Amino acid sequence: MMKIESPWMLNLQRKRPLIRLSENADVDVVIIGGGISGISTAYFLLTQTDHHVIILEKNTLSSGASGHNAGQAVAAFEAPYTNLIGRYGKEITDNTYTKVNDAFSSLKSMAEYASSEIIEEEALALFSSLDSAKERMKNPSSTKLYVPSDSNEPDAIYLEDFNRQTWSSGYCAATGYRAGIVNCPHLIENISERLLDEYQDRFEIYEDSTADEIIFEDDMVRTSCNGHIVKSSSAVLCTNGYGGFSLKSDSQRPFLNGSIQPVAGYMIGRINSPAPSGVRSYVPQNPSEPYYYVTRYCVNSRSLTCAGGLDTRLDNWNEIEAWTKSDERKCSMIEAFLLRKLSGFSGPRNFQWKGLMGYTDTGVRLAGKDPEIDSLYYNVGCNGIGILHSVLSAVIICKQMNGNPYPRTFFDPLIQSQDSKGYPDAVQLSMPPFKE
Ligand SMILES: Cc1cc2nc3c(=O)[nH]c(=O)nc-3n(C[C@H](O)[C@H](O)[C@H](O)COP(=O)(O)OP(=O)(O)OC[C@H]3O[C@@H](n4cnc5c(N)ncnc54)[C@H](O)[C@@H]3O)c2cc1C
Repeated sequence: MMKIESPWMLNLQRKRPLIRLSENADVDVVIIGGGISGISTAYFLLTQTDHHVIILEKNTLSSGASGHNAGQAVAAFEAPYTNLIGRYGKEITDNTYTKVNDAFSSLKSMAEYASSEIIEEEALALFSSLDSAKERMKNPSSTKLYVPSDSNEPDAIYLEDFNRQTWSSGYCAATGYRAGIVNCPHLIENISERLLDEYQDRFEIYEDSTADEIIFEDDMVRTSCNGHIVKSSSAVLCTNGYGGFSLKSDSQRPFLNGSIQPVAGYMIGRINSPAPSGVRSYVPQNPSEPYYYVTRYCVNSRSLTCAGGLDTRLDNWNEIEAWTKSDERKCSMIEAFLLRKLSGFSGPRNFQWKGLMGYTDTGVRLAGKDPEIDSLYYNVGCNGIGILHSVLSAVIICKQMNGNPYPRTFFDPLIQSQDSKGYPDAVQLSMPPFKE
């Protein structure tokens, strides 16, 4: 029977009771949102500072994008490398690529702490034209160029079994890139349990606890939640971009998360169709055609094949809550693509779901301290690819709270605010949300 939920979430074994915020609190840091951004931020703050930390989550941990993704930890961005250099300069762009790549080791340390597995793989992006693949090789995270053995490309690696290795037919070149496959809800749950146990005196998680209003005063942040007030020295927004709560301060400048727009990403899945683990993405020849990505995850003889694509702009944040005929049709389109192109996939799908992506107007994540409000930090704007970026953002925030400088990345809210104001047409996403 078809399930309308991600298998990551359905297979999650949770032992913790759900605790709502039911009294006022006074802490050092309030984290709003319990996805991978919120948990990573809590992990680094607890293990590397002596701050007292609270997470407020409006549903349950992982109920947002973190429970509904494809699990691909990749140092990739929505905007093309050359576009990013044009906007932020080579030094900051290359530094950001390096730092996101370095976030693999932070993610691995989190996974080790949580006794959660990360499968490391060389992922492959598939192209219908050799030129497009060669263009992708300019991107610093690309590792190798692969072509079928009957090709003529001296700089590439020839593969006898190109179709088997790419799990597909109809593509003529592939580029490699580093990837990890991570079961985000499992990681988040295990880290939470261990942190709650280890830092009982200075860590709490409250679920079913929506932050309704956050007021930034001179020396304090007041967060209203469930009719109570959480006072803190700082607040970290890890809300992905979800709207529905208000932020207030004396600053005249709009809050930077205000421009984030909701986009739905669609996925289908099939369990127990055994295949080795791996990550593939299928890049269309024509950018107006849909882009699809596939994860195969095989752990303890249980396997999951899942595929996503067809990112679609939503009119409002609430649209993510209901399942419609149009959602159903998009999942059928993904399945039709797999049946046509993915070798070894004979369907049918037994899971389908959608998840919320928060698109910033620059197509780039926001990470770090607000340019004007010292007590406000952002770890928001997933823009479709965001697992490693969330972890890096947590590292940046922890360093900043410790008073240590961090080499500049283009996630910096100051850079983002200037980009957003100075180049209103700068956003040219390489994989724009799909429009029908
Ligand atoms: C279909 C899909 C596929 C994806 N695939 C990949 C992939 O393969 N690789 C990759 O790197 N990225 C992928 N992503 C993106 C990735 O999942 C996100 O970047 C990442 O999960 C974002 O984590 P987050 O913690 O910032 O946001 P979320 O996981 O969305 O967490 C935000 C949390 O904030 C809570 N919240 C919001 N408002 C409030 C409030 N007022 N009070 C309290 N809580 C609040 C929400 O309930 C939510 O739990 C995908 C996303 C989708 C949707």
